[in-house]
Amino acid sequence: MSRTWIDVAYLAAAILLIIGIKRLSHPRTARSGNWIAAVGMAIAVGFTFAIEELDSYWLILAGIAVGTVVGVVTARMVQMTAIPQMVALFNGVGGGAAALIAAAEFHRLAPHDGRLDSDELVGILFSAVVGSVSFWGSLVAFGKLQEVLPGRPIVFPAQNAINALLGMGLVALVALTATTENGIWLALLMVGALALGFLFVLPIGGADMPVVISLLNAFTGLAAAATGFVLDNTALIIGGTLVGASGTLLTILMGRGMGRPLRQTLFGAFGGAPESGGAVAAVGGDGTARTATPDDIAFMLAYARRVVFVPGYGLAVAQAQHDVRNLGDLLEERGVDVRYAIHPVAGRMPGHMNVLLAEANVPYDELFEMEEINPEFPQTDVVVVVGANDVVNPAARSQPGNPIYGMPILDVDRAQNVVVIKRSLSPGFAGVDNPLFYDPKTVMLFDDAKAALEKLVGSLKAV
Ligand code: NDP
Repeated sequence: MSRTWIDVAYLAAAILLIIGIKRLSHPRTARSGNWIAAVGMAIAVGFTFAIEELDSYWLILAGIAVGTVVGVVTARMVQMTAIPQMVALFNGVGGGAAALIAAAEFHRLAPHDGRLDSDELVGILFSAVVGSVSFWGSLVAFGKLQEVLPGRPIVFPAQNAINALLGMGLVALVALTATTENGIWLALLMVGALALGFLFVLPIGGADMPVVISLLNAFTGLAAAATGFVLDNTALIIGGTLVGASGTLLTILMGRGMGRPLRQTLFGAFGGAPESGGAVAAVGGDGTARTATPDDIAFMLAYARRVVFVPGYGLAVAQAQHDVRNLGDLLEERGVDVRYAIHPVAGRMPGHMNVLLAEANVPYDELFEMEEINPEFPQTDVVVVVGANDVVNPAARSQPGNPIYGMPILDVDRAQNVVVIKRSLSPGFAGVDNPLFYDPKTVMLFDDAKAALEKLVGSLKAV
């Protein structure tokens, strides 16, 4: 097939990928967006087989078969709370693939051509370095989220200086590879880049890991785009650039959502659980948390004018999304104004709560983003916090120095009454105690989220 037709097909694939990504930005259109992007990807892969110079068809088909089986099985088996780990792993594999392709192309071209042309050389060096950083960095991120490695920041003296030295060493190796075109230097460059990926993610704490994964995702996209230049493949250039751009935007938005400039996330050795001392300082009120029974809470909810539910990670763990919807529906039947407040980093992945509530068919017009709902809390009679902790922790506003200080939160402590459903007083992901639990307006219902909501539904029916 002529190259023009293949490029036309690649253009169509790129348009479908862009439409797909656009549609992913709203839960209502996300599912079809995913399909549209998948069709775009299938077109890109399919038309690549029509490239005349292509050989090793069976090897490529075997790669696709293995990738498909692993992808489908993992995606079906993975728990929704473990999606960030899966994203980190898949992303790392993408970065590693880009680096290996760069090395293979170097091996193929350098000995024959004598001198590589500068386009090829820049592309090869870029994807070898960035792909290797992304590969090993993503594996460390996976290890931290999977708790194979400690989630807290791992720091050692002169860490940033060592990283800077390593960075300078890589620049020297880039120069040596470019001037000598000797594969040994490229191999050393890739080993150095792997070490940089490792050292770069090691000091970043668990709570900042989603931002880092998103950044590494952008790196992988850029490495893939550079590989596209090396292979002269338009689809790879466009696809890689889209991933690079959307990963960068997501990184910035998540950093904003967590109230953390990127510089601080990457170089601040910040974001893990405090070693000690965080808990006591955070306690508010008289230091005692009050509890209430499901019957008391149901009574309070039944006579409220407005109730706002705040879902968090615990809702996902308990898979209680249908129960919260049932309770909301019952309240609406009684004429209560029911809303759901979504914090941008509630749960363990961007959009986690939107996905859960969409699964339970909560109407989209009842979902409110943080900026929309925060001014409404003072006029809210009861806020029901279901398995959320960090995203409603007032210590983020008031205690400089703790890992979540500066993160914008849902201001639930400004509502008239707060009900917190969780199993204990233990802290959330960031390891910071929560003064909200000791606020005189707050009552705790210590239980698994699903069991607690079922009891509340039962009690409400009896009111
Ligand atoms: P948190 O992790 O702060 O708190 C969740 C709470 O849920 C825990 O305190 C736990 O308390 C409770 N819980 C756990 N299981 C259950 C259960 N079965 N029933 C009831 N409660 C339960 O969650 P948030 O959603 O408030 O905050 C998200 C945190 O995760 C933030 O720090 C964010 O930065 C971080 N993060 C976010 C990511 C994202 O992209 N959204 C990705 C990775 C991290 P107890 O044990 O007492 O029940």
